[in-house]
Amino acid sequence: MPPVAQDTIDDRKLIQSAYRKLLKSIKVNIDETDRKNIRKAYEIAVEAHHEQRRKSGEPYILHPIEVARICAEEIGLGPTAIVAALLHDVVEDTSVTLVDIRERFGDKIANIVDGLTKLKRDFNPNTAQAENFKKVLSTLVYDVRVVLIKMADRVHNMRTIGAMPKHKQLRIAAETSYIYAPLAHRLGLYNLKTEFQDLCMKITERDQYDEIARKLQDTKRQRNAYINEFIDPLREKLDELKIKYRIHGRPKSISSIYNKIKKKNVPFEEIYDLFAVRIIVDVAREKEKPICWQVYSIVTDVHTPIPERLKDWITTPKSNGYESLHTTVIGPKGRYVEVQIRSERMDEIAERGFAAHWKYKEIKNQQDLYDAWLDNIRDLMEDVDKDALEFVTDFKSNLFNEEVFVYTPKGDMKILPKGATALDFAFSIHTDVGYHCTAIKVNNRLVPMGYELENGDQVQVTTSKNQKPNEDWLKMVVTGRAKSKIKSALREDLRKLADMGKEMLERKLSHLKLDLDINADNIAKHYGFKNRMDLFASIYNGYINLSDLREYRIEHGRIMFDSPKSKIQEEPVIEAPAPKRPRKAKAVSKNLITINGEPGEQYDYSFASCCNPVMGDDIFAFVGTNTGVKIHRTACPNAENMMTNFGYRTLNAEWSNQTSSEFIANLVITGIDDGPGVIERVTGEISSKLGMNIRSFSMAGDEGYYEGKISLIVANTNQLNLAIRALKSLKGVSTVTRIDQTDE
Ligand code: MN
Repeated sequence: MPPVAQDTIDDRKLIQSAYRKLLKSIKVNIDETDRKNIRKAYEIAVEAHHEQRRKSGEPYILHPIEVARICAEEIGLGPTAIVAALLHDVVEDTSVTLVDIRERFGDKIANIVDGLTKLKRDFNPNTAQAENFKKVLSTLVYDVRVVLIKMADRVHNMRTIGAMPKHKQLRIAAETSYIYAPLAHRLGLYNLKTEFQDLCMKITERDQYDEIARKLQDTKRQRNAYINEFIDPLREKLDELKIKYRIHGRPKSISSIYNKIKKKNVPFEEIYDLFAVRIIVDVAREKEKPICWQVYSIVTDVHTPIPERLKDWITTPKSNGYESLHTTVIGPKGRYVEVQIRSERMDEIAERGFAAHWKYKEIKNQQDLYDAWLDNIRDLMEDVDKDALEFVTDFKSNLFNEEVFVYTPKGDMKILPKGATALDFAFSIHTDVGYHCTAIKVNNRLVPMGYELENGDQVQVTTSKNQKPNEDWLKMVVTGRAKSKIKSALREDLRKLADMGKEMLERKLSHLKLDLDINADNIAKHYGFKNRMDLFASIYNGYINLSDLREYRIEHGRIMFDSPKSKIQEEPVIEAPAPKRPRKAKAVSKNLITINGEPGEQYDYSFASCCNPVMGDDIFAFVGTNTGVKIHRTACPNAENMMTNFGYRTLNAEWSNQTSSEFIANLVITGIDDGPGVIERVTGEISSKLGMNIRSFSMAGDEGYYEGKISLIVANTNQLNLAIRALKSLKGVSTVTRIDQTDE
């Protein structure tokens, strides 16, 4: 902690101006009582955090004030949340107690502050992170504001993360993209979601982030000229409607552009939809729909539409409340341009999601989309047997982005996540319908239970009392609800089997004059089971033969074993399977890396085959249970999962030694050419000109288009980048992309 500084005049000015900014940012009407409460909360917080400073050195109080401002301005929350946000850190960090807060502000605010404090206090780096998430998510169903304030807290911490050590930054980024970004999306907070993703990318892939940011800046003038060329003819016609409207071009986020570059495997220069054009009309509620379609008609009169890109989320809003009309048209120079048409009200919901949704809620008389979703979450939480990791996984599958609309035989619409199956549909109707589902018809045709639903499908489920779920069903569903219902049915079955297995073991032990309760855990451990229930069930199923129980001793009524019978993995294996072919790169010496500041050789590390780090890459270390310490790239596809759910097993790692070594880097090359010519040129460039070694090279393609996979042996990222640049400049090569691993 930096030394405690006395309040300076500068500090006071800073704090007061932050507070004034907060007051100005409040968008909802507040009365005199609200105003007094906010003032009171501010004064308590200033006093309580008086001696604290943030890592950056600024007064700590600026953080809660800013979190309150984000709640007010960016999420659109009201006075209750603003007061709670101002107080969100006082109970944990200062001498102010919850009782004080309850006395001064009442139950509602005290409960929110309590929720926020618990989220913080129970954080324990030695337990799986999933527990912590479960707590965050559980607060959702009681008062969504707890989670919304938590997100404001998180986004402010992310915006000011620079003062943190790198490994903490990485961990926070992993958590954020694992849970906070999808949650923001689910709650309709698009701006927040986008910012989370950009801030994460800035931490995990800084170079790529900077490069795209720079290119966006460099091409700004050109882009604005193009946008004007696109918009000007529209304005003329829109003016004739005699309504208030706004029209502008908005650049897409850096992370979404980067995803496109990766997904489509094209360079920045070839991505044209770097922006979307948005038209926002200011009209009365009942005129919204006809006016939006009138605008659509104007847009498509001026620019040719691509009909299959029309998306009407006005007639059927997305389940997070999003309403808008999207279309893609062909603009000047033949480029595709996405146009979004909506009303001011829809825009507010799109930007600020949940809070705005509630603001307009009374007006609409339809089944509330959020209520349905929160019901789903409640379902997930009811299942007490579920461990935290399972809960988070199931929860995440409820944070779907895209959805599919299907109908019951009576014509009622059901919204399910994209990718949902016929069996998911059955469970969405009712748990019992799911449990007893024997056959499913889609559009009057019998389909497998795992059939993936399509928009407009009409689905009919046949049930039978004798049917019940089995293991395989888990592979045929994607929704959290169905998964958790199937799992709990299976567990119920397991419990019945276990009861019978338990009796068998009890008999066996009573022959030996041993007590079951005292000895069951030890026997379970001996056979490598996580718990006694699994042991009992395996006994009943005959997987374990009790007559095997031979090599043991009995000491004071306890059964003892000298060596475990078999090993069953206790935790999910995260590392990718080892490559079938052994690494041909030279065995690396063990002193290339420092781990947590110590020489890496003490950790006996190796390099992960799921992402193949090369000297110079951003890296971290992960302590596996059976696989030892592995070095991964921070851009590894598994990094998010490792850091989020097993954060306590990640260690800081840095390259310490520049002595030459050999690493494998995998590249995908695409282009248009005849195969043999390219192979010659590529191998010539790599081996002869650059003097590097090729470990493997394969090519496939047809009609002049090819895709090649090349595995290179390089000394460091400089050499790798040199090779990528050289390959890109070859005739017949269009793209060169580094990939994580080859699927040989
Ligand atoms: Mn905080």
